[in-house]
Amino acid sequence: MNFTVALEQGNLEALRECPKADLHNHFVLGGSRKYLKEHTGRDIRPITEQLHSMNDMHAWNGQNIGNYFDTPEGRRLLIKATFTQAKEDGVTILEIGEDVWGLGAFFGGNIEELAEAFESAHKEIAPEIELRLQIGMSRHCDIAYLEDCLSHFWGCKAFYSIDLYGDELAQPIENFIPIYRRAKAEGLRLKAHVGEWGTAEDVRRAVECLELDEVQHGIAAATDPSVVRFLADNKIRLNITPTSNYLLGRVQDLKDHPIAELYRNGVDVTINSDDVLIFDSDVSKEYLRLYQSGCLTAKELDNIRKNGLKKI
Ligand SMILES: [Zn+2]
Repeated sequence: MNFTVALEQGNLEALRECPKADLHNHFVLGGSRKYLKEHTGRDIRPITEQLHSMNDMHAWNGQNIGNYFDTPEGRRLLIKATFTQAKEDGVTILEIGEDVWGLGAFFGGNIEELAEAFESAHKEIAPEIELRLQIGMSRHCDIAYLEDCLSHFWGCKAFYSIDLYGDELAQPIENFIPIYRRAKAEGLRLKAHVGEWGTAEDVRRAVECLELDEVQHGIAAATDPSVVRFLADNKIRLNITPTSNYLLGRVQDLKDHPIAELYRNGVDVTINSDDVLIFDSDVSKEYLRLYQSGCLTAKELDNIRKNGLKKI
């Protein structure tokens, strides 16, 4: 069944069979609920009511995940759970990766071992998926600390991209310029979380300062037509996560999600999961919810899906 018909019929199983990209997925919370239950006995429940801050999300994390997986074996289990989830969802391009602090905490400081943990799970569970391995950093971390961690990642050819996440308001984006210049010289695709909690101007500034190729979220851009035009003109991709935006109170109704405005004004947008375990937001469900809310048409959603699969 083709994708638009599957949307019109509300057929989630048929949607799962269509190829999709997931370019905004934090693997720690990206796993298959069923797989984790089978392997740990833990019942990880998604939230269903809107939260009001990242602190609420951290509280959920404390109750449901805690430090249960904070061992080398636990981390590997989460990686496998994420490939399992992506396979079940029909994801064919998956961009995930480890946070820089995880190298020392879970992989003995050995970058080859870290890359191998992802590559071996990839081969074992879903070799048909295109894996784009990412380096992740938290925005609250001290720059000297991040640079020290990153010194082990530079030069490792396994990585595709770099991303910055965590508290968007923790420190000025300009502080990260030296890191992003180096990442660019390393040939990495440059991404950062901006415009989820911040403003349209924050999105423009981050793209300009860090020379970003892609923005995780970026939805605040829709409030300023000049920033929308800037993103469209410069072909900056926004990797958007609708249910996460709704459950974190960034949008009040999926029907009014700014993805429609951004897409219809020529911005390169994709639809992604963010954190499946907390938001119950696998990519197929995200497409269906946007369709059923009336936010985007089946044709528009299919165009966005195909756009995410294009080679860049
Ligand atoms: Zn995110």
